[in-house]
Amino acid sequence: MSSLWSALRRKAARTFFGKAFGMVKLKSQREIDLLRESARLVSRALAEVGRRVEPGATPQELDGVAETFIRDHGAEPAFLGHEAGDGGDPFPATLCTSVNDAVVHGIPSNEPLEEGDLLSVDCGVFLNRYVGDSAYTFAVGELSEEDRRLCRVTFEGMHEGIAQAIAGQRTGDIGAAVEQHCTGYGIVEALCGHGVGRDLWEKPQVPNYGSPGEGTPLREGLVCCVEPMINHGTAEVTTDADGWTVRTADGRRSAHYEHMIAVRAGERAPEDGKPEILSTFEPIERAIGTVPYRRSGHVAAA
Ligand code: MG
Repeated sequence: MSSLWSALRRKAARTFFGKAFGMVKLKSQREIDLLRESARLVSRALAEVGRRVEPGATPQELDGVAETFIRDHGAEPAFLGHEAGDGGDPFPATLCTSVNDAVVHGIPSNEPLEEGDLLSVDCGVFLNRYVGDSAYTFAVGELSEEDRRLCRVTFEGMHEGIAQAIAGQRTGDIGAAVEQHCTGYGIVEALCGHGVGRDLWEKPQVPNYGSPGEGTPLREGLVCCVEPMINHGTAEVTTDADGWTVRTADGRRSAHYEHMIAVRAGERAPEDGKPEILSTFEPIERAIGTVPYRRSGHVAAA
């Protein structure tokens, strides 16, 4: 789930201040192991959701599937009852289901999904007191070529950002990489990725735009979510009267992918120096068999 942080700059966003954002909390190896477990449970929950995404299914049904799966695995939904800290209603569901022009934080409705819809599903859990948080944009039936391209650009942009999550770099390096890759699309600035740990939204903020060398330094043990929200049209967004659902201001469609990653350095760093991606899309893509962001229509997952 993305944090909404620049309400003063983007009046569409809900006001969100420091309550949930304290200091950057670097994680021990044991904590990273626990966060990986939480992230993997989210990935499996998203796979359970994904295998049921089809025309006629309702977001509320998908929400029930996710909630049952999460509780059956000894965890709690992290978004259910979550308060944004602005005095508004807590989030009422397990999943954020954002259809078409909804960018993020959509409240699951009982309106059946339709052929060609773009469905972003964001899921969070508390397992052993640690958060897992990841999102995937699904195709409902066949997507248009234009929407497939939007998914691809968003997915690739996320990975370009992740590739910059190296100790010694800064959050601005992540944002700049996402921004550069997604040039030509609307890159949502009113919402951003975030640190994650025992709290859903921790420091630092991880914007999807920025300047190399600026922002919060990335250090060994930093765990954060990288989650570009990319629109066909304008980057501007509005929030529905429900206080949660964020939509594109021009009604055009949006895509969203989110991975949880750990910055590694020193003895704990892999040889390639790359960050560790704690969540995984593998179970999701095995379940759906069709990958919305690949160049050619269908790619059978192994
Ligand atoms: Mg998130």
